[in-house]
Amino acid sequence: MKKVQKDIIIIGGGPIGIACALECQKRNWNYVIIEKGTLANSLFNYPKNMTFFSTSEKLEIDDIPFISNNPKPNRDEALEYYRRVTTSNKLHVNLYETVVSVNKNSETFETITDKAHYTSNQVILCTGFYDIPKLLNVPGEHLDKVSHYYKEAHNYTLQNVIIVGASNSAVDAALEIWRKGGQVTMVIRGETIGERVKYWVRPDILNRIEEGSITAYFSSEIEEIKEDSAIIKTQNGSVTIPNDFVIALTGYLPDFDLLKNSGITLSKDEKCIPEYDSNTMESNIKGLYLAGVVCGGKETHKWFIENSRIHAKLIAKHIESIK
Ligand SMILES: Cc1cc2nc3c(=O)[nH]c(=O)nc-3n(C[C@H](O)[C@H](O)[C@H](O)COP(=O)(O)OP(=O)(O)OC[C@H]3O[C@@H](n4cnc5c(N)ncnc54)[C@H](O)[C@@H]3O)c2cc1C
Repeated sequence: MKKVQKDIIIIGGGPIGIACALECQKRNWNYVIIEKGTLANSLFNYPKNMTFFSTSEKLEIDDIPFISNNPKPNRDEALEYYRRVTTSNKLHVNLYETVVSVNKNSETFETITDKAHYTSNQVILCTGFYDIPKLLNVPGEHLDKVSHYYKEAHNYTLQNVIIVGASNSAVDAALEIWRKGGQVTMVIRGETIGERVKYWVRPDILNRIEEGSITAYFSSEIEEIKEDSAIIKTQNGSVTIPNDFVIALTGYLPDFDLLKNSGITLSKDEKCIPEYDSNTMESNIKGLYLAGVVCGGKETHKWFIENSRIHAKLIAKHIESIK
């Protein structure tokens, strides 16, 4: 296998990995981003018509202007922005290469990917949380008609679609599919639509539910998914409804195995928060840094681009201080 020597390995080419690369580039450090998918892979996999809740300047990295035509940018504009930042600055990125393990041997790190074997002085892990869906763990979840991601509405026209969840993603999908002629039923564990749903979207979904355009079962869960129906456990007993597709938008989890196998300690409580120093972003393993939304463990709402882009500068400052 190919052997490569670098000062710094950045794992993950999302917005925060790109921000880290900019800091390395400015300092002439020998670094590379290793990204298992395309550039900004999580954003690429977001729904096609998704609009960010942040205004564009809050998504900027290193003060490079992000101009949007709208009050809040959409997915395509964000992809354009992070792509241009990467190409204009000639950042070093290896795409379609997956990191399998990170090990520290005395003072250096060995990062093994499916293509090469890297040694480096530091590793920055910014692998996000969008790759591992939280499963419903119900019979029938394996069926082809069940998905944990939503891309666009057209293929759900004239179909009976269940959306599980009540967050931004679930509400956006429910409204879009209903507007494209799908019959939408929402199955929601809580008593209401999520409080964090974008303030300009929340009234829309509440009104569609109230007028009966979209059916919502609150305090309810899916019990079983069958080929052409689904059973919902409601407060008033089980209900069976006709069903063509289930879209379970119940959240995602970071790759805890990669973190643990790299030696990073996770909090013992249910949040599984990785250990790091918030001043430097260095984990419990010296020279191994965490950046971006991966820092929140199972608390995937704690960090986002807006408040985690600062991690790149904290890390660079710390590495500079020990060089
Ligand atoms: C629908 C939705 C809307 C959002 N809206 C906003 C918003 O308005 N404002 C905001 O600030 N935030 C928003 N967020 C959150 C924001 O998009 C994420 O916080 C952002 O993507 C985090 O950036 P990141 O670089 O930390 O992680 P990611 O963007 O997830 O990047 C991690 C990268 O690591 C790669 N990777 C993972 N494992 C490996 C591996 N083993 N080897 C190599 N590469 C790997 C992944 O492919 C991915 O490209 C939203 C999130 C979602 C899901």
